[in-house]
Amino acid sequence: MELERLDGFDDPSAKLEQYSTPAPIAAEVLHLAHSRGELEGRVVDLGCGTGVFAVGASLLGSDAIGVDVDPGALETARENASALGAGVEFILGDVEDLELEGDLVIQNPPFGAQSHGADRPFMERAMEAAPVAYSLHNAATRDFVRRHVETRGGRARVEGTYEFPIPRSHHFHRRDVGAVKVDLYRFESEDG
Ligand code: SAH
Repeated sequence: MELERLDGFDDPSAKLEQYSTPAPIAAEVLHLAHSRGELEGRVVDLGCGTGVFAVGASLLGSDAIGVDVDPGALETARENASALGAGVEFILGDVEDLELEGDLVIQNPPFGAQSHGADRPFMERAMEAAPVAYSLHNAATRDFVRRHVETRGGRARVEGTYEFPIPRSHHFHRRDVGAVKVDLYRFESEDG
């Protein structure tokens, strides 16, 4: 209910694949991690957008960090955090250029649909930054995601599949709302 109050993207960029995770789905992912005792330490949200995972992780007791390349999204994320009294550290930058360390990553990155390969640095950074990551990816790319993680020494398990409604926020969407199947993964890595 708290996350339902957060603002989304003012002017979503198609190139950056800016879709907010719906609050009920974000809440479910956060509760899964919380029920496993994984929100105790430092939680890193890569491509945090307007901050739903970072803010939610902070409300559930973690030291949350949100990273995004888009200053406008981060401004909204900061407002969202302060509206809910969440203490999140936000960092402006490209995930490719940052080295971050944490106990857990939670991310809904670009799916690599608009910018081919945009999902790859997120998978790699997630595995480097923490031993465990929850990561959302287009279910159509399941084989690719698994292979990408496994060839880099990690393990990738699908924990569930969600239907993401896609609001008509980009000019190339003809229907009001479409849906895309999205897999929730748990990545485990040795070096994270
Ligand atoms: N995690 C948010 C936003 C998902 S949209 C949520 O679930 O609601 C994907 C986000 O990744 C966008 O905010 C976009 O600006 C950001 N992004 C895309 N490429 C990036 C990059 N190379 N480095 C950092 N952030 C990036």
